[in-house]
Amino acid sequence: MALPGWIRRRRISLTISLTTLSLLLLAKAAEPPRNWLQDPPERKEPVIASCPAISNPDPLMGPRTRMPGRWRGLAPVSPDLPIVVMAGHADSQNMDGSGTPGYAVDVLKQRPMDGRMRDELYWNFKVQQQIVQLGRQRGLNISGYTPPSLTIRNHRDPSTNWAQAKMRSERGDYILEIHFDAYSPYGFGSGLIPAINRNLNVVDESLAKAFGRFPRDFRGGLGGPRRGIGILEIGMLQGELETQLRDPIRSAETIQCLASRVVDALVRGVGRS
Ligand SMILES: [Zn+2]
Repeated sequence: MALPGWIRRRRISLTISLTTLSLLLLAKAAEPPRNWLQDPPERKEPVIASCPAISNPDPLMGPRTRMPGRWRGLAPVSPDLPIVVMAGHADSQNMDGSGTPGYAVDVLKQRPMDGRMRDELYWNFKVQQQIVQLGRQRGLNISGYTPPSLTIRNHRDPSTNWAQAKMRSERGDYILEIHFDAYSPYGFGSGLIPAINRNLNVVDESLAKAFGRFPRDFRGGLGGPRRGIGILEIGMLQGELETQLRDPIRSAETIQCLASRVVDALVRGVGRS
């Protein structure tokens, strides 16, 4: 059956439009994929599915220090206080003071997370990096320091955590060193072992309120605190904390949660919240 002339003309123009559309789609598909590294999508606060506020005792971090302190941190600080985050034992592997292997390795005879270091340092590094990243997103004047070698035997080496802490603390930086305590019965639990070389300030107070408070002269005054290091014991490396850190599915979220708790306390401490 012959179609009237106007219907034939509309069919032809429809065919042309569809062809144009197909060509456009093909051209789009041929574009190179977007490079997310160079051109990242809009950055948003990471959403942590299961990171409730800290409680005492805390279901994730366990009990607070069984040896509590009574000091108060009252000295004011600037909102731009330079904060330097270190990983505990980062220069002391394969020597005295290398940190705890944790319950999983020491008692359950599981493999270390990384054969070059104690499990404590492995997790100290992970949490340190996440604190610096989250802290910057939250507007803190925060950086990390990592020594150039996992083993530095020379105590006079200027690149150790202790040497850097002493120098930076003297110029007014706030030094925070991340640790995981040993497991029970050797461990003490969560809390801040504060610096000894300066007046305690509102950042010390904020961390102590969130994580717990060790005595200022804990074990006669440790080497780190004498050089201006605030030692933050996240918790004993055992139980739920160690299980979640070692679980490949929950590990990243657990590190994120621990780091966000530290950053929350730092943000409150410097008065940025
Ligand atoms: Zn430690």
